[in-house]
This record gives sequence, structure tokens and C-alpha cells, in this order.
Amino acid sequence: MIITDIQFLVTNFRFEEPMKVAFAAITDMDSCIVKILTDEGITGYGEAAPLPFVTGDNPGSILAVGKDLRDSLLGMDPRAIGAIHRVMDRLYAGNGAVKAGIDIACYDIAAKAAGVPLYKHLGGDDPHIHSNATIGIDSPERMADKALGRISKGFDILKVNLGEDIRTDLDRICAVHEAVSGKARLRVDANQGWSVKNTLWISKELAALGVELIEQPVPANDFAGMREIRENSPLLIAADESCHGISDAMRLVSMRAADILNIKLMKCGGIYPALKIAAICEAAGLSCMIGCMGESTLGSLAGMHLAAALNIASEADLGAVSVSAQAEVSGGFDHRGGKAVLWDVPGIGCTVKGANE
Ligand code: MG
Repeated sequence: MIITDIQFLVTNFRFEEPMKVAFAAITDMDSCIVKILTDEGITGYGEAAPLPFVTGDNPGSILAVGKDLRDSLLGMDPRAIGAIHRVMDRLYAGNGAVKAGIDIACYDIAAKAAGVPLYKHLGGDDPHIHSNATIGIDSPERMADKALGRISKGFDILKVNLGEDIRTDLDRICAVHEAVSGKARLRVDANQGWSVKNTLWISKELAALGVELIEQPVPANDFAGMREIRENSPLLIAADESCHGISDAMRLVSMRAADILNIKLMKCGGIYPALKIAAICEAAGLSCMIGCMGESTLGSLAGMHLAAALNIASEADLGAVSVSAQAEVSGGFDHRGGKAVLWDVPGIGCTVKGANE
């Protein structure tokens, strides 16, 4: 089997509601559907979802880099995923989102060719996923209301975005804690917004509220700060923006700077490198979660298949479970709140409007 064409279709996905994190407020995303055609008539779909301030990609760079990569990947076997990545990495450093889009489409083809759902192709046997819902930064009252809304929809793990003024952040998490009153497990994500000192101060308060973990408290490049917090905070510390590829994962592990790594396909460049990061976590005794960064259902579904294959379902952090399916992409999974089950169909399993075979 060989790749005969790679097409890129930029599509605007509007979020169900704006998502405010410490470094940005996001209402929609110009994401890119990647379509790979083969000489055997099997078509694969992937998604390259750019968050410029995290991965350095944007829609224009995805189209420009994607065209270059296409020219070098034509004629290759899409199932030779290691060789595909070697070609991509030789041509471009970084650019995780466009590489992830191509990687996901290749895995979709490989699973379709094997006649199995992607999670089975990746070695999994259980289609169930358990994911959190994310609460964006807002006033304490509105965040408490949003938390109750998520619980009414069946979610029982909430990731609460914080990372602004530390006193207001404490008011926010206290309001959410009081509202949910034991009906949901709580995690917080500061998205690089705190200092080491503030994180250690609020850690004790968060521990008293039963919060499970703090994600990315300090700036991405402050590995020493992450280590200092991990050594002195009573909570588990997760690395997100500090962990893009396998070398970041190795550095975090060797510095003992995190307890958990949040693996996102758009940061690391797809499922193939994500599996390597997961292996590093396993060898080091760390847990990992599979997250997303505003992808539509298509990109998030790829993350769900990976989470199912890695049997780390309780640590999934996947938006598609909490955002209703976008018009362009549908199907692939059923869910009630954060409990999702992947369809037993070959590949990723979703339908891409106007693009399916
Ligand atoms: Mg995060």
C-alpha cells in the first residue's frame, strides 16, 4: 500500500462555550482535517489542531509545512509509521500539530487495513474511557455553576483551570468545591500561571479540599521550579506545557520534576511519539494522562483510542467527551458524561462530513 495524496482542509470549529485558561481565552479554532488517500482505496483521516502559543503551529504553517511533507511522503507505505516520522523529523523540527495530523491519518489507515478499531490495533482490548470535564476560568460563582452543570451531565472528575491571582484562584476552587460537595473528584490546572512560592502556599489549601493534582503550576521551561514543587507539595504534580516530546519526558523523569505527564498528540507529533513517552513513564513509574488542546471530535477520538490502548482510562483529559460533536465530524463513540465507549468499527470510527469515501 502506498500514499497517493495528502490533503489539508482548514475548518473552523466553534467551541460549545469559550474556554479561558491562564494564558489565553479560546472561543474557536481554525483546525485542519488531514485526509490521506492510498492506492488500495483506503482513506485515513487525522486532525492538526494548532495552538500557536503551545506548539508554534498555525493554520498557515500547517498548510505550508504540510505541503512540503506531502511531497516527501507520497509513495511511502502509511503503515511504515516509524519511517514516516523519520522523514517528517528530518525535514522539520517541532511542528507537532501537522505531524500529528499525518500520524493520526496513517494510524487510521493501518487500523482500517487490519479491520479493527484503532485501540485494538494499538494493543488495547477495552473500549471504555473515563475522562474529566474542564472548567474554564471565570468568577467563582460562575465556575461553581459550570461545575454543577458538568455534574448534571454525568461527569465525576473536574479539571478546574486557575493560574491568575492566587487569592482569587483560592476563592474559585473553594466555590467549586462547595458546590460539588463530594460529587466529583477535583484537579486544578494553573497553565504556567503561578510562581513556586504561590504554588506551595496554595498546595496546602488545595490538599485540605481534597484536590488530587496540580497541572503545570509554573512556566514550561522552569523544570527546576517543577521539581521544587514536586518535592515540597502534598499534591501530585502533572507536567503539560513542560512536556512536548520524548526528550522533555526524559528530562522531567531524570530531574524527578513531575509525578504525571500529560501527553497530547498535538504537542508530541502523534500517536507514534506518544507511545514512546508512555513507555518512558511506565519505566520510570510515573503515570500519564492523555489530553487534548481544543481538537474537534476527530483529534480527540484519536486520543481516546490511545488512552484505551494504554489502559489509563481514569487519567484521560479529553475535550471531545465534554464538547458536543462538531457538525463536520460525528460518531465514533457514545458517552454519558465522562464515561465513553468507542465504537467497534475499523479505524478511528468517526464520519467526516463531505470527506468520507
Ligand atoms: Mg494543561
